[in-house]
This record gives sequence, C-alpha cells and structure tokens, in this order.
Amino acid sequence: MKHSEQTDRRDSLTHSLLGAAGAGPAITSTTDVAVGAVTGETQVATADGEITSEVDVLVVGGGTAGTIAAIQAGRAGAKTLLVERHSQLGGTTTTGGVAFPGLFDAWGKQIIAGIGWELVRESVELDGGTLPDFSKVPQRHWENQVPVNMFLYGIMAEEKCTQAGVQIAYYEFPQEITKTADGWQVDCAGFGTRRRVLCKQIVDCTGGAEVVGMLKLPRLREEETQPGSMLFQTGNANDPGRGQLHALYVHGADSSNSRTVTRANMTGRKAVLAKVREEKQRLMHLQPEPGFRESYRIVGETIITVDDYTSGRQFDDAVCNAFYPVDIHTKTGVRPAPLQPGVLPTIPLRALIPKDGRNIIVAGRCLSSDRLANSGLRVQASCMAMGQAAGVTATLAAQHGTTPLSVPLAEIHKLLREHGAIVPGEASSG
Ligand SMILES: Cc1cc2nc3c(=O)[nH]c(=O)nc-3n(C[C@H](O)[C@H](O)[C@H](O)COP(=O)(O)OP(=O)(O)OC[C@H]3O[C@@H](n4cnc5c(N)ncnc54)[C@H](O)[C@@H]3O)c2cc1C
Repeated sequence: MKHSEQTDRRDSLTHSLLGAAGAGPAITSTTDVAVGAVTGETQVATADGEITSEVDVLVVGGGTAGTIAAIQAGRAGAKTLLVERHSQLGGTTTTGGVAFPGLFDAWGKQIIAGIGWELVRESVELDGGTLPDFSKVPQRHWENQVPVNMFLYGIMAEEKCTQAGVQIAYYEFPQEITKTADGWQVDCAGFGTRRRVLCKQIVDCTGGAEVVGMLKLPRLREEETQPGSMLFQTGNANDPGRGQLHALYVHGADSSNSRTVTRANMTGRKAVLAKVREEKQRLMHLQPEPGFRESYRIVGETIITVDDYTSGRQFDDAVCNAFYPVDIHTKTGVRPAPLQPGVLPTIPLRALIPKDGRNIIVAGRCLSSDRLANSGLRVQASCMAMGQAAGVTATLAAQHGTTPLSVPLAEIHKLLREHGAIVPGEASSG
C-alpha cells in the first residue's frame, strides 16, 4: 500500500468514525503515529488497526530459534520485526513447557554459546539455579541439559528483544505474502490489527516452516510423525527451573494449523484429566498447549542425512555445531542412540535455505534434514545456534541487498564471532 493511499483511507475513516460517534469532544484523533526510538521505524495505525511496518528483517515465530534470530538481527543493526502468534516468546521452551534446553556442550567442551547461551545463563543466574560444568562429560546426555525457569526465560527474552530494538507483534501471523522488487510484502492479521510488513528478508522460525509452506516451496513430512507431549504437574506444586514437569504423549499432535492444534490441545487436556481422576491427586500445573516434536521440514539447498549427522560431517559452509543423540519417539516410547565418542555434527548454511527460495532463511526444527538426523538436530541449543546464524545471515543479506545464499561465509562467521557464537571448528573450553 502506498503512503498516499493510506493517508486517504485514514482520512475517510476518520470522517466516518467521527460521524458515527457524534464527534464528541473526547475524540480528538483517530490515528496514532509512533516512531520507534531505536529502530527509527515509522508506524501509522489507523482507527481500524491497519498498520504498515517497514523493516529490514521480519522474523516469523518467536520461539526457541526465532527469539534468538530476532535479537541477533536487532543487535547487528537490522530494523527487525518479530511476529508471534502466541502471547509470549520462547515457543516450545515456554509455551510447550520443555524448559530444559540442551545441549550446549560435547565431549568436555562448550560447542554452542552466543545469544541463546547468554539468555539461558542469565535466566538461571537470576533464578539462583546452577549451571552444568561443561568440562565434565556426563554419563547420560540429558545430565547437561540446563533447567530454566520458563517464566523468567520468556520475560528476559522479551527484555533482550526490546534492548536490541526488535519490535514484537504478539497475536499476529502472516496471511498473504507477495514478492516485491527488493524483498517481501507480508500481510499479517491479529485481532483488531491488520499489518502490512515491507521487509527485505524473512526468517521463518515457525517450527513447521509455515512461511515456506505459504510460499509453496517444497517441504518434507512423514506419514506418521512423532507424538507431541502435554506437560503438567500433579501432587506437588511446580517448582520452575528446578525439576521437570510430568508429560503425557499426545499421538498425532500436529502444529500445522488451528484445527490440528485445537485437536492436540483437547486430546492432551483430556488425557491429563483422566490422569488426575486416576491418581486422585491435585492438578498443580498445566501448559497452555502441548509441545510438538515434528511436522514439516524444508527441502533446502542441501539435506542433512543421518550419516552426515552420526559421522559428524564438517560441512564446508557450516555455521554452527549441534549435539544430541538420535532421538525418535514412537508409540512405544523412545530409545536415544548416542553419538560415538568425539563425534560433533555441524549445520550447514544450505540446510537453512529453502531450495529455490530467495530472501528467506529458516531456523529451528524445520531445517532441511532427513527424519533421523532431524531427531537429533531439533533440540533447543541447536535451534538457538541456528537462530543466531540465520539472524546474522538475514541481516547481512539485507545490508548487501543480496540473498542469504550469496552472503560470503567469512562475513557470516566474523559477525557470529563478534556476537559471541561458536563457529564450527572453534569450540571453546566453556
Ligand atoms: C515434548 C518435547 C520434549 C523435548 N525435549 C527436549 C529436550 O529435552 N531438550 C531439548 O533441547 N529439546 C527438546 N525438545 C525439542 C525442542 O524443544 C524443539 O524441537 C525446539 O524447541 C523447536 O524450536 P523451534 O524454534 O523450531 O520451534 P518453537 O520453539 O516451537 O517455536 C515456534 C514458534 O513459532 C510460532 N508460530 C508458529 N506458526 C506461526 C505463524 N504462522 N505465525 C506466527 N508465529 C508462529 C509458535 O507460536 C512458536 O512460538 C523437545 C520437544 C518436545 C515437543
């Protein structure tokens, strides 16, 4: 929408509203004009909630990966908008209640740091918790996951976004996406809000690559996906940041759309209710929706195979490390297959870039990978590291007026290092 059209529309709306309301003295203006102090972004909100946001980088999905991508883009100087359909940041880490991110270490060294680690570390410190000693190799992989207080984590993520100049739009999601000469026009909807976003780059961090799907770029999906889990607590009060919540599998849980999520919510809650009745214990805590393990993955410029993953392939265009057992949940449970001693997989930039996509990059569990590789790559520390790499790449692509695939790798690595991330081959001693 051109500015002049918008102004005309606003004027006519002003007239009709004033007419309808009888032009009472309280109504001095039906428009709000706000200039973002940090981003310099101008927003014009009309009476019917119509807004135009012009930014460099649009991050869709403020979950595990998206929060980090947005903070990174903001810190690197990009005008950044983060659109999240829920009411808080953190995604599966907060809304799903899976508040024990891993793994930031492998074989006695820290292998993922940067913004995700900063947020985890600071939220644990503020909560008076303890951090694992990464110089010790644990007997079981999960011992070095870091329990976080999901409530603090979400608020601190929001604080870091604000400090980085990232504008957050909760309760909104993209409805229509159109190519423009230098990027995208993304029409988003929220209740009482219609937002037109003009951006140079999109970072799709929706978990299931929703934006990639809207653009009709190819995605992969299994016929039968891993179950989700509904997290809750009966008996004792929930002690956030200390223990883990109880979990019940929700088979068929699918994060694809409002209908499938509604079904998963109701199935999960029904199972919890049955459990409460069976155990005759008080329900002390219940997450607002299940955690979803698996839905769509992109078909990227390369697809990480399980052989790549279990052999610790060092990709030429690796942007971050990843570490976790191969971990497929089925109807009969889960049997993690740990990686062999010394193996440290990497994630290549090309696995974050949808094949034939321009001006779009993804981060999170939807990365381009086969199912078994994905079962290890989807964990939170890896998602955070991908988020930081995607935030850096989208920012550089926006600055250079190019595509994520064309950004020189050396520039991506340099900016990642400047922002505290660990570049593959350079693991710190933690
Ligand atoms: C039950 C369970 C147990 C797990 N256990 C562990 C574990 O022990 N350790 C570990 O590290 N990992 C674990 N994982 C894996 C890990 O938590 C997830 O794979 C990871 O958090 C996914 O991150 P993400 O950023 O891809 O997606 P999410 O964190 O889910 O974020 C996606 C975000 O996008 C938003 N969104 C989606 N669609 C739209 C849209 N159209 N518009 C706007 N916003 C949108 C969502 O609301 C959400 O906030 C577990 C996962 C589950 C489900």
